[in-house]
Formats: sequence, C-alpha cells, structure tokens
Amino acid sequence: QAMTSGRGQSSLYAAETHQASSDRFKLELELARALDNGELRVFYQPIIELSTRDVSGFEALIRWHHPTRGLIPPMDFIPIAEESGLIVPIGQWVLREAAAQAMRWLEMEEHGRGLTMAVNLSIVQLRDPGLLGNVLEVLTKTGLDPHSLHLEITESMVIHDFETALDTLHALHALGVQLSVDDFGTGYAALGYLRTMPVQTLKIDKSFIDPLVGHDPRSLSIVEAIVSLARALDLDVIAEGVESVEQMVELQRIGTHLCQGYLFSRPLPAEEIPSWLREFRLRAAP
Ligand code: C2E
Ligand code: MG
Ligand code: MG
Ligand code: MG
Repeated sequence: QAMTSGRGQSSLYAAETHQASSDRFKLELELARALDNGELRVFYQPIIELSTRDVSGFEALIRWHHPTRGLIPPMDFIPIAEESGLIVPIGQWVLREAAAQAMRWLEMEEHGRGLTMAVNLSIVQLRDPGLLGNVLEVLTKTGLDPHSLHLEITESMVIHDFETALDTLHALHALGVQLSVDDFGTGYAALGYLRTMPVQTLKIDKSFIDPLVGHDPRSLSIVEAIVSLARALDLDVIAEGVESVEQMVELQRIGTHLCQGYLFSRPLPAEEIPSWLREFRLRAAP
C-alpha cells in the first residue's frame, strides 16, 4: 500500500515522523535536566499480605512532573530514558531514594517488623557494568538490609540477554538482594530461565487479574497454574493490579497472599504513606 501512495502522502508522513522525532528530542533534553531540576519524584505503592491484612512492603514508581506538560507517566518517558542512556543515572537515583525511604520507614516504630522495597530495573541498567557497584553503594550508604531490597526485572529482559543477565543476577543475589519477575506471564512463556535464575518472587501481570471479575475460567486457571508453579519452586507470588474485593477474595481462595493494586492504594508520595497506613490499619482491624 505504501508503494501506491502518492508523493504528497509520503512526504506528509516524513514530515510527521520528523515532528515526532524532534518532539522526542526536546523531551530527551528536558528529561536530562529533570533530575537536577527536581521534577522527578518517587511514589510508593503498598503491597498487602492478605492473611495478616498488613503491609509487607512497597514498590517504588517514578513520576515526572513536567513544568508545562504536567504529569508524564513512566511509560511515556522510560523508553526515552532507555534509548538515551539517561535511565542509568535516573535509575540509580530511584534506587537511592527508595532505599533511603525504606530506612526512614523501618526506623519508624510502625514498620518495626520489617518491610520490603521493590525497585524496577531497566534492561539498560541490567546491561550496565556499573550496576553491581551502584547497588552495593546504595546499600552501604543507606544501611538497608539487602534482603529488604527487591529488584524487579521482566521476562523479556532475562531472555534477550541471558548470559549477561545470569551473571549479574547471580552477583546481585550473592549480595543478598531479592529478585522478582515483573509482569509474569506476558513474556515468552519460556519457563526455562526459572531453573537457573536466582529469582524469589513472581508478580502476576494485571492482565490475568482483571478477568477474575466475573470468574473468567481461563484466567482463573492461568492464575492457579502460576500459583502452583510458584509453590513447587518455592517462590513468592504477588498479584498486580487488584482493583476489587471480588478479585481479592478469589486470589485469597487460590492462595495468592500478596496483592498490590488500587483496591488498597494507588502509588502515593512518601509523605502520604503514614496517614494512609493508619487508616488502612483501622479498616483492617477486626
Ligand atoms: P510495573 O512495574 O508493572 O508497575 C505496576 C504499574 O501498575 C504501575 O504503573 C502502577 O501504578 C500500576 N498499577 C498498580 N495497581 C494498579 C491497579 O489496581 N490498577 C491499574 N490500572 N494500575 C495499577 P506506573 O507507575 O504507571 O508504571 C508503569 C511502568 O513503568 C511500571 O510497570 C514499570 O515497568 C515502569 N516504571 C515505573 N517506575 C520505574 C522506575 O523507577 N524504573 C524503571 N526502569 N521502570 C519504571
Ligand atoms: Mg514493577
Ligand atoms: Mg508489573
Ligand atoms: Mg510493567
């Protein structure tokens, strides 16, 4: 079809791509300054342990408050950060912020029993030879127990770069850092890596949790299969994107004890967590 389209059309297309790439370039320049300008923030979303009705930890999620465009979701700027390499300093900043925040909460009596802090890793960070040193530096400077730090990777990351990923993940594991497979089930359905990768947690993607409303039998079977796989491999499971009580009840019945989703809380700025926590505990109290 592109062959038969006239000259005018193809140059219009070229103009559009040019516009798109210059927008992208502008955004990249702005992103390069965003960190120094204090436009980046880390929000925290609680992860709930259903059996105790308590918080087991948090996931750190980056936010960009652009001075003129407003809030830009991570999906719209993480790819730019990855292509430009900016994800390395940005990712390191997220890691440092999240670890320092975890320490502050751990020092507060309310979290005395320990909590986990999950941080998303980009494939670019996983390939970065400085990653191990960066993680070690953050742990040393903040004093966070490595076991409290969960790094989230996706299936596609480990599959595309198997050799490098394997070495790096084993080195991180040797530090005591916990590893989670994010968006589990949406990748390549290649389970082989679970044999050799030192992962501790599977995060079931929201796309399998959504259809649990209305008891979609196929989604239910998939979630049940993931849970029994995890049990057999002695891995933890977290259900992502839990939005309704109906889903929560279903997940509890299946045996998924850790849940994350808007039903409990949206990602919040750190300063809103203590009051959210008090309210949550009041509601959860028998
Ligand atoms: P993710 O790691 O799978 O994070 C979960 C996403 O689902 C978050 O979106 C969260 O806000 C959203 N979510 C949680 N519960 C619910 C729910 O009940 N309903 C709905 N509709 N959504 C829910 P967010 O914050 O927009 O982040 C999107 C993705 O961007 C993340 O997916 C992660 O892949 C990436 N990301 C976020 N922060 C970072 C970061 O610091 N570094 C890197 N490399 N990637 C990040
Ligand atoms: Mg994640
Ligand atoms: Mg996910
Ligand atoms: Mg994701």
